[in-house]
Amino acid sequence: MVVEAAPSLRSRKAPAAMVQIKSPEQIARMREAGLVVAAIHAATREAAVPGASTKDLDEVARKVIAEHGAKSNFLGYGGFPATICTSVNEVVVHGIPSDEVVLKDGDVISVDAGAIIDGWHGDAAYTAFVGSGHAPELIELSRVTEESMWAGIAAMKQGHRLVDVSRAIETYIRRQPKPGGGRYGIIEDYGGHGIGTEMHMDPHLLNYVEKRRGKGPKLVPGFCLAIEPMVSLGTPKTEVLSDDWTVVTTDGTWSSHWEHSVALTEQGPLVLTSPDGGRAKLAELGIVAAPDPLA
Ligand code: MG
Repeated sequence: MVVEAAPSLRSRKAPAAMVQIKSPEQIARMREAGLVVAAIHAATREAAVPGASTKDLDEVARKVIAEHGAKSNFLGYGGFPATICTSVNEVVVHGIPSDEVVLKDGDVISVDAGAIIDGWHGDAAYTAFVGSGHAPELIELSRVTEESMWAGIAAMKQGHRLVDVSRAIETYIRRQPKPGGGRYGIIEDYGGHGIGTEMHMDPHLLNYVEKRRGKGPKLVPGFCLAIEPMVSLGTPKTEVLSDDWTVVTTDGTWSSHWEHSVALTEQGPLVLTSPDGGRAKLAELGIVAAPDPLA
């Protein structure tokens, strides 16, 4: 799930964030929660077919959480009425699962899911294509968004600061030519966040650099972040529908959202919500992922 940037973060330099630093044992508990989220992703991906409703996907997620003895961090969060967010087409984030939203061939859905194990949270999202026949620019949009997330993950290094993660995400997106010309919209009002004993913790992570916000805290072992770029084919601006949750682009262009929860350890980054801890993808980027504490 994503958090709205507080007005203070948008308008002036942010106050120093209080960052919760985790021990290796605590990161192992977060890895357990992250693997439940990975299982929700696998099960809902399989269920996201034409004819399924987004409520059906929510039911799939609810069962996975129960089977793992986990708890939902989305259900009841600020009054949110479901276990996952299902955001279809022009919906950017926080779509509410519904019997009335039936997936059809050609749709693009982003599923955002989370879980709690022993009080420790995981949070991650993916974008998927329903059926077939998607326009190349939609496939490219999702690729650019996912790869920008990995660029951000690769920037989770000792010696870096929070702004280096924001810069890596933004730089990746800006270097990709957009099919048909123009610029991608990097969603401004929402971003990533610290995660640990709560789903949303300091610091807020913008998906672009805003100089007046400063460099942010240093990245040290035990620092955990949910990294989650949201990118549209048009505007970076969003509005919230009358249900008080559903976030859409103001110009109706479709969007993509990818997210992983990541821990920085003494031995490098560990992608808590990826089945392999991020090992394969980080290797492509020339980075050795931290060993899986549960392996
Ligand atoms: Mg999140």
